[in-house]
Amino acid sequence: MEYRADLHCHSTFSDGSYSPIGLLELAKEVGLSAISITDHDTLAAYSDSLFAAARELGITLFTGVEFSAQYQGKTSIHVLGYNVQRTEEIETFCLRHVNRRFERNRAILRNLSRLSFPIAEEELYEIEEGTVVGRPHIAEIMVKKGYVSTSSEAFNRFLGEGQCCYASGPVITIEETIRAIHQAGGKAFLAHPHFIRNKRFLHSLSSFPFDGFECYYALLSPDKEKTWVERALREGKLMSGGSDFHGASKPHLFLGCSWTCKEDVEKIFGVQ
Ligand code: AMP
Ligand code: ZN
Ligand code: FE
Ligand code: FE
Repeated sequence: MEYRADLHCHSTFSDGSYSPIGLLELAKEVGLSAISITDHDTLAAYSDSLFAAARELGITLFTGVEFSAQYQGKTSIHVLGYNVQRTEEIETFCLRHVNRRFERNRAILRNLSRLSFPIAEEELYEIEEGTVVGRPHIAEIMVKKGYVSTSSEAFNRFLGEGQCCYASGPVITIEETIRAIHQAGGKAFLAHPHFIRNKRFLHSLSSFPFDGFECYYALLSPDKEKTWVERALREGKLMSGGSDFHGASKPHLFLGCSWTCKEDVEKIFGVQ
């Protein structure tokens, strides 16, 4: 079977609904050769037992993480870090993100309660220990409480960037994010660049030392992907692809709906 590596998916350690083992089993079921679990701001999925389970299933597991960085203090830019070693420095960097999220979630809850949509902090952190809690978890509670009918409504009206209850929290820059990934021996990729609307960022993109672009993404049309494949080729960047599978919170996406070919995988992770 053709080699396919899905290098972008989320587990229950962030806002996905499958456990890391569940993702590996699903990867096997859909015929993938390899996956990278790119949870938001954490490497917690990568235990020794997970690597052992991957070996047993015959799936290659590559370390990965998706950091939320800010451009000029407000536009949120997602940065994928591949092949990072779990050093003390990167764990500290992840912790900084977790603290950033804690403050940011608190600000979002404050904004919501001003609009008479109260959610107690305890309620938000009832989820399993070690989970990186973000806006999808807030959206889920808003649905449960009947404040909105769907999670997308919560984002479109309240939680999305630029909406009334949005808060960005303390700033972590793109530069320091790429530096942290490089210091841990990893490669930094600009995630789903197709959605970036900030023209100034797109213009100054080449001033950031990204190793590659996530050219192939979820269910985007080849036409949209082509723009980024061409830019990567022009600028000598690596290329990656993945589904951004989350399970229940993004039911239209399935694991393996976008992927990276063997040649590109070898450029990122070395020859397997
Ligand atoms: P956060 O990490 O807290 O900034 O939340 C980002 C996550 O929220 C993304 O990875 C998506 O899973 C989800 N998300 C972002 N925008 C939307 C949207 N408009 N509708 C539903 N989910 C969204
Ligand atoms: Zn997510
Ligand atoms: Fe993302
Ligand atoms: Fe993602």
